[in-house]
Amino acid sequence: MTCVICKNKRMKRGTTVLPIERREAIVLVTDIPARICANCGEPYIDERTAKQVEALANEELNGRVSLRKSRTRRTVVVAEFA
Ligand SMILES: [Zn+2]
Repeated sequence: MTCVICKNKRMKRGTTVLPIERREAIVLVTDIPARICANCGEPYIDERTAKQVEALANEELNGRVSLRKSRTRRTVVVAEFA
């Protein structure tokens, strides 16, 4: 695959962090397996992983965040991708 940023074709394995925004809350999902551009460091996540990240974020928000409480201040939840 080719990097959309720098057109480099070499990717290395690594992990990345992705913020998922839902109303007033942000879930920061860490340690997501990704392919990282060897040249510029742009992370690429496959579709299946992206769906898992989304599911994890929804789970975290349902369990922990009171949207009523976070109306005035944003809540940030950090979740490690498993
Ligand atoms: Zn690149």
